[in-house]
This record gives sequence, C-alpha cells and structure tokens, in this order.
Amino acid sequence: MSYLLKSATLPNGSKADLAIQDGHFVTVNSLLKDQQVIDLAGKQVLPGLVDLHTHLREPGFEESETVATGSLAAVRGGFTAISAMANTSPVADTAGVVEQVYRLGQAAGLCDVFPIGAVTQGLNGQMLSEIGAMADSAARVRVFSDDGKCVFDPLIMRRALEYVKKFDGVIAQHAQEPTLTQDAQMNEGEMSAQLGLKGWPAVAEEAIIARDVLLAEHTKSRLHICHLTTAGGVEIIRWAKARGIQVTAEVTPHHLLLTDDYAKNYDPIFKVNPPLRLESDVLALRAALADGTIDIVATDHAPHSAESKDCEWSVASFGMVGLETALSIVIKTMVETGAMNYEDVAQRLSIAPARIARYENHGQPLEIGHVANLTVVDTAAKWVVDRDLMSTRSKNTPFHGFELPGVVTHTFFNGKLVFGG
Ligand SMILES: [Zn+2]
Repeated sequence: MSYLLKSATLPNGSKADLAIQDGHFVTVNSLLKDQQVIDLAGKQVLPGLVDLHTHLREPGFEESETVATGSLAAVRGGFTAISAMANTSPVADTAGVVEQVYRLGQAAGLCDVFPIGAVTQGLNGQMLSEIGAMADSAARVRVFSDDGKCVFDPLIMRRALEYVKKFDGVIAQHAQEPTLTQDAQMNEGEMSAQLGLKGWPAVAEEAIIARDVLLAEHTKSRLHICHLTTAGGVEIIRWAKARGIQVTAEVTPHHLLLTDDYAKNYDPIFKVNPPLRLESDVLALRAALADGTIDIVATDHAPHSAESKDCEWSVASFGMVGLETALSIVIKTMVETGAMNYEDVAQRLSIAPARIARYENHGQPLEIGHVANLTVVDTAAKWVVDRDLMSTRSKNTPFHGFELPGVVTHTFFNGKLVFGG
C-alpha cells in the first residue's frame, strides 16, 4: 500500500506533501497509481513517538495487559516503538524471555516492542543477569533496568555500568533509596502528614541519582534516570551534564501535571511510584524538560487490574496507565503554556528516546529514504478521557473525565497505517 499525505504540517511548522511506499518515504513523483490520498490540512505530523518506559505485564500478568493490548494502546497514543520493562513473571533476565517478548511484539505487528533486560537476576539486586546474552539475542537489548526496584548495591551498579559499555548499552535506574522509603505511600510533606500516610522524601530519589551520576562518571558509561520527580533531582542532572557525564533523564506526563494534592481524598488512582510531588517540583520539571536538562518524556505506563487499584490507598498497587494520554498531557503542559513547540515535542518524545536506546528506524527525520514511522495529530481538537473507551486492558488512568488537547488521528508504522484513517 502507498499513501499520499497532503498538506501536512511538519514539526518545524512548514507544510509539505509526504509520500509513503514500500515502508519508506519516497518522492511524490515516484508514487504508483493506487495510492490512498489522505488530506492532512491543519494537522501536525511528528516522527512516530518512542516510549522508553512501558509495563506490558506479559508474561505473567496478562489480566492487566498483554503485548498485543499494550501495542494497540501505544499506536492509539501515537507511539511506533515502546520498551517493555523487565518486571514480568518470569522476569526478563534471560535471552529466552526477552526474545519471547520481542516475538510477541512482532506477532502483534502494530509497533516495535523492544524488551528492556533486567540488570539483576529476578530483580533481586544481588547478581547480574545474563546481560551479554540478552544483548546478543534476537531482541538485541540495549537498555537494562530493574525498574520497579532500585539497583541499590553500588558495586552491582558499577559492574552493570561497566558491562553495558561493551555494546553501547545504557542502565536505566529507578532511583529509590529503599531504607528511606520503607512502606512509603506518597510524597513526604504537609499532605502526607495531614493524611497520616507514610511519606517518601525527595532525598530518597536524589541520593541515588547523585550516587549514580558519580558512578557513571567513574565508569565512563551511560546512565539513564527513570521518572525524575523532584526539583533537587533536576539540579543534580544539570550539574552532571555540565560536567560532561553521560546521563540522560526522563519525566512522566503525570509528573508534569499532577501534585500530591490529588491524594487528599485517598483515591488510589493517584498512587504512583515515584509519588506525585509539589507544585514547585512540577514547575522545575517543566522548565528542565523545556531547556533539555530532562531529555525525554516516558510514560511509565503501568496497567493494574481493577481489584488492585479499587481498594484502600495503603494496599492499592502503585501505577497509572499512560500510553493513550501522554501526548495530550505534553501538549497541555508544555505546548499550550508556550514552553515548547512541536520541534521540541518531536525531540523529547521521539528523536531523543530513539537515540538513547539506539532504536534504528525511529526518531528519524520525515525525509525521503527513511522508514515511515509517523504520527498525525489534530492539535486543535479536544477530547474527554474515558477509561472505558481506551485500548489498554486496565482502566487506571488518573485523567478520566479530563478534557485534553490533541487527538491522534493516524499512526503509521513501517509505512503501514496501523491506527486511524
Ligand atoms: Zn520505576
């Protein structure tokens, strides 16, 4: 199938016709006669979005999400590549498991599903997993993370950083000092005191970030900090980058919009790890994303069954789904506020994440010869989030009922229209 996309608005604001044939962008003149013509007047195109932080729950927790349902949620949200976190059952700590997830992604066929390998066996924090075998596997894993848990032992962290250097890999750290966050339920502050919930201090995140940027400097290896949430963490990343340390960082859409005020009714839909912080943190995160101190937005899409969220705060699971709302939240918090334009959006949600994870064929310019991974957004349109109409198997969105800007109308993956039209 070939496509002629008329009058699209490119990330830099200019208008162009785009032609897609045999999976690639081609010159308009070289199109064969049977192309489908799609009028994109007034619509924004972006390189297909890339998520570096996605929990797909398969194998092991298919009642919450599968690779197939997560892939569908991804393309509805405009993503053409997602990164499956390793905290499945079994844990993705061997070549066998990462190849299984990779093949499930290929079978679903909607977007690229790149498995992330566990840093330690069974996420136990004590023994390195089969990092080399996962890197050499058919899944060609380049990102390793124990996400959900922190790689707490500094010697293990050092060894992991040293190991992935061999193949240009990166360690993605969930920065959470475990002893400072034992039984923690939400951000430590006035709100946690008022609610009588055990608090999670900002320093528990910042202490690990500080340690790990120093380890990244020492090993001259690549470190990625998952879901940054504090103004203090931003300062450490800024300092590390100024020193030339190879560190990158992500922020989630929910941390760009929500604060711990949302916990005040004990609604566990707002229970998330790391926790929602203060207005001052939200503003620092937005400023850091705008100036590039924070490199990317990543969803931390974390589906949970109704039973594990529809209960008392203290026993509810941590996490929120995010694939289908991520772009809209970024438009609301960053574009509509004037902090970023669509070139910046392309950078933070596609180009930079693809570069960090070394995903070929993603985050590329929308130019002749490149693989056609492309997202089309009606930026003028608004929609009301309805958890019952989403494609993810779980309904734990904190944005149910929110009116948000930006409707994804088409997603092309490898030159095929996989959503919309
Ligand atoms: Zn995490």
